[in-house]
Amino acid sequence: MRDREPARKATPPVIVVGAGHSGVAVAAGLRARGWEGGILLLDAQKETPYERPPLSKELLKDGAPDESAVLRKEKFYEDKRIDRLSGITAESIDRKGSAVLLSDGSRHAYHRLVIATGSRARPLTVPGAGLAGVQSLRTRDDALELKRLLVRGARVAIIGAGYVGLEVAAAAASKGCEVTVLEFQDRVMSRVTSAPVSRHFEQLHERHGVQFIFGAAITAIDGVGRAERVVTADGTVVQADVVLAGIGVLPNQELAADAGLECRDGILVDGDGRTSDPAIYATGDVTRFTSPIDGASQRLECIQNAQAQADRVAAHITGQQAAVPEIPWFWTVQHGVRLQTAGVRHPDDDVIVRGEPAGGRFSVVYLRNGRLAAVDTIAGLTDFRPARKLIALGARIDPRLAADPSVSLADAISTRPNPTDAVPTAARI
Ligand SMILES: Cc1cc2nc3c(=O)[nH]c(=O)nc-3n(C[C@H](O)[C@H](O)[C@H](O)COP(=O)(O)OP(=O)(O)OC[C@H]3O[C@@H](n4cnc5c(N)ncnc54)[C@H](O)[C@@H]3O)c2cc1C
Repeated sequence: MRDREPARKATPPVIVVGAGHSGVAVAAGLRARGWEGGILLLDAQKETPYERPPLSKELLKDGAPDESAVLRKEKFYEDKRIDRLSGITAESIDRKGSAVLLSDGSRHAYHRLVIATGSRARPLTVPGAGLAGVQSLRTRDDALELKRLLVRGARVAIIGAGYVGLEVAAAAASKGCEVTVLEFQDRVMSRVTSAPVSRHFEQLHERHGVQFIFGAAITAIDGVGRAERVVTADGTVVQADVVLAGIGVLPNQELAADAGLECRDGILVDGDGRTSDPAIYATGDVTRFTSPIDGASQRLECIQNAQAQADRVAAHITGQQAAVPEIPWFWTVQHGVRLQTAGVRHPDDDVIVRGEPAGGRFSVVYLRNGRLAAVDTIAGLTDFRPARKLIALGARIDPRLAADPSVSLADAISTRPNPTDAVPTAARI
């Protein structure tokens, strides 16, 4: 009698490294798109994967629960047969053997591998950066420690006037802390927005008692055992019980780089999230890709990108059509005022203010070669939706009409033809 056929070896799972916004979205997207095989989600963190935006906003408020919102309830992972290994890191990739090696010594074969390792807070490297009371903010543990330190009367020095630094400044001021923000540039959020928006938010913070020192190059943090003061290159000294370094992030690309995948300040991926190895994808903060809108090489650190890229990866793995690339968007809330941005502004874009900043509610539109490239809306969303559509269409805007807030953005489209102007890729999507 012939031996029974050996059971066909099951296809190995899709392994997703990192259970942040993007990793969880890939796992969910695979199931939503009908992937029947195994899914293994690996996460360095121990807790149920959670949202990061509340860490610098709601979670810091007095009386707010310490658990920030989870991305998905535990039951979701069970119901969708998504296996999770938490508190474990992927240490290396054996590309020839299609396997990942984990920190507990185990080895797991993959059908496809997705790297969603996100980014980490850029470390402060000056002397004294390791003193107690010097914090960065990336994880829930960081946020809870910060919350513990932000008590009435505490002197808080924030290094970096980016989104995270300013959100923490607002939270600290609302708790009665004495807040000083030290920023190397000459205005807040200079990397992401224009001078009128910076000025508006500076004034907003100042009205809430936050002080700014611009042009500040930090040289040291002094203190015995714990932070007591921040020192800058020009000799300025800021007394501080708590120091928050909000100086940007670095992509967690080492796993990919060590495996020989192409990286350049981010893992290089194409529009489907594919790396230089066809069996390996990457998604979220850790990636660098070419903007389908303007061809710029970019790394986007926002929820919208983490989710949109994840969906494209899930679509590609399951052989399906992905959604049309979305215009990137981002938000921040400071002292209860919401700044919402669509598109990615370039420093040399033309800047048009719509409305009166003194009134507290206005927009700023950014034109590149006459086309709408980005918009900031402050405390109002009227321009946000139309702007996203118009940016995707590469619409030419009449600057005179755009400056009049009583004219809708859609009605500010310029009808003047410009035959020398190339049609941007987005218009053809
Ligand atoms: C305080 C704060 C506030 C923010 N506010 C906003 C906001 O208002 N709006 C907005 O759009 N965006 C905001 N962001 C940015 C947003 O959170 C990120 O863009 C988003 O989390 C990126 O998702 P991701 O999955 O790429 O990375 P992450 O969410 O960082 O997840 C990556 C995960 O991978 C894990 N990991 C890393 N290496 C390994 C490894 N080797 N093995 C296993 N696991 C690993 C990490 O532990 C982490 O859990 C904020 C971020 C922070 C920190």
